[in-house]
Amino acid sequence: MSKVRTRFAPSPTGRMHVGNLRTALYAYLIAKHEGGDFMLRIEDTDQERFVDGALEIIYRTLEKTGLIHDEGPDKDGGVGPYVQSERQAMGIYMKYAKQLIDQGDAYYCFCDKERLESLKSKVSESGTEIVAYDKHCLHLSKEEIEANLAAGKPYVIRINMPTEGTTTFHDDIYGEITVPNEELDDMILIKSDGYPTYNFANVVDDHLMGITHVVRGNEYLSSAPKYNRLYEAFGWEIPTYVHCPLITNEEHKKLSKRSGHSSYEDLLEQGYLTEAIVNYVALLGWSPSDNREIFSLEELVEAFDYHHMSKSPAVFDTMKLKWMNGEY
Ligand code: GLU
Ligand code: ZN
Repeated sequence: MSKVRTRFAPSPTGRMHVGNLRTALYAYLIAKHEGGDFMLRIEDTDQERFVDGALEIIYRTLEKTGLIHDEGPDKDGGVGPYVQSERQAMGIYMKYAKQLIDQGDAYYCFCDKERLESLKSKVSESGTEIVAYDKHCLHLSKEEIEANLAAGKPYVIRINMPTEGTTTFHDDIYGEITVPNEELDDMILIKSDGYPTYNFANVVDDHLMGITHVVRGNEYLSSAPKYNRLYEAFGWEIPTYVHCPLITNEEHKKLSKRSGHSSYEDLLEQGYLTEAIVNYVALLGWSPSDNREIFSLEELVEAFDYHHMSKSPAVFDTMKLKWMNGEY
């Protein structure tokens, strides 16, 4: 088996929520448990969502919790993270998008806002409402495309998704997920500002970075089948997917990024120790094979078998965190 390689791929859009910390921790533990490598990738191609200071929070949190990445571009005499805006400037994503166009798996779309807004939604066989792009520009002639490009008409690049049949996606925690292909939209790969979409950059980078296990929050589970098509078009091996369960508050409602009390920095401000926070977060969705509850980071590396992760939501329970913090 090849060396396990994982990554944490945050977008710098706010404070570091416990859910983000848990994703980083699990990605780290899955790699380290197998003697593999853990990488950091900053997903900052959605410039509108960028929040000042968010990057520093990510770096500081990872450093304080000991989740140090192993590999990345040389920067300031050290190992830097992979940064998507820098990779975009190097032309990486455009190169791969053009490859798909040449293969006939993607196409230029020149539709304006009005035309896109006029597209009607339809209901798929399974009852899901979808507003799929109607593939209008897939049928443009070579001459029309050349003329539009020469005239400097704005465009996006879309993938050509199949419309019949089904796509089956496998996740190591959630199992098999099958979706009808008519629900897969011809998603945008490159936006009109030349930046890649999150979905496209994410797949290209996971491949180029040799990621073997993609660890992330389960809010991405439903978009995951779309990635299969990209892997297939490139002829790349699909990595193992490990989606982490939802974290809820004690009222069983989703903990949100905005509910300020649930970021790592908030917990520090409330007097919790980093060791207790890391220990507690590790158990939000994973349990060891025995009943042990107190672990240092090194002990977690030793014990962490991700096959013991759960798919049911984990409840963020402050009593238990207090106990781990030595308050009882
Ligand atoms: N940039 C995404 C986020 O902020 C990462 C998703 C992934 O890990 O693939 O949640
Ligand atoms: Zn179009």
